[in-house]
Amino acid sequence: MDLKILMRIAAIVSLLSILLTSCSTVPVTGRRQINLMSDTEVVKMTKAEFERMKRQMPISRDPRMNEWLTDVSEHISQQVFWDMPLAEWEFVVFDMPGQINAFAMPGGKVGVFSGLFDMVETQDELASVIAHEIAHVTARHTHERMSQAGILKAGSGIASLGTTIATGGMIYGAAPSMSGQLAAWDRAKESEADRIGIMYMANAGFDPQAAITVMEKMAAMDLGGGSSRPYNSTHPSSEERLDSLHSYLEEANAAYEKAKELRF
Ligand SMILES: [Zn+2]
Repeated sequence: MDLKILMRIAAIVSLLSILLTSCSTVPVTGRRQINLMSDTEVVKMTKAEFERMKRQMPISRDPRMNEWLTDVSEHISQQVFWDMPLAEWEFVVFDMPGQINAFAMPGGKVGVFSGLFDMVETQDELASVIAHEIAHVTARHTHERMSQAGILKAGSGIASLGTTIATGGMIYGAAPSMSGQLAAWDRAKESEADRIGIMYMANAGFDPQAAITVMEKMAAMDLGGGSSRPYNSTHPSSEERLDSLHSYLEEANAAYEKAKELRF
């Protein structure tokens, strides 16, 4: 056979094998996606970034906030186990009053800003925020963003990594290490995280109704992507997200009832 043809076949075969091995499935929604980042690489990078954040931002010792987060984190991380088998879970409350935000990173690093506790009034509400952020990770939105940003190719940009590898869905006032652009997930990713998140929290034994009350509060505060946002065109409005959440509620409630039986 002609050498040129052989080389062409070899190229096609290797391209196919890259695509096949890097194709993965999003939990709950079952969406197929191409993923060019290896989990071990991503976990290593996020660990370093989280350590940097812990050095840069004050850590809260507030007992109520930390107890709530510990309780929520135990139940949610159990639930997410098979979707994030490599995770080394760590949940930290950063003492950042006025910052209504939380984020999750691949590798199981989760940060909550103390300002979030001005908005969440129950553990169920806290669980809905954490589950949503973790859902962005298990749906590999962070992997996709990192692949798009070409971070590994560039081999640089470690200092600005926080904006790329953390999820942070609803920034209200910018944290020193993260910019407001972080919040700009597109519609599809936001609703996918809402859908996965409500199932995670329900399966973990938290009342999925809290996902609705949190979204209602975000709508009132214009945090869920309101009409005044410049990225309005690609970012879903809180109203849209509320409608979708309501449509997931029946399935989530059934899971919640089951989880309650198992828990007691
Ligand atoms: Zn989000």
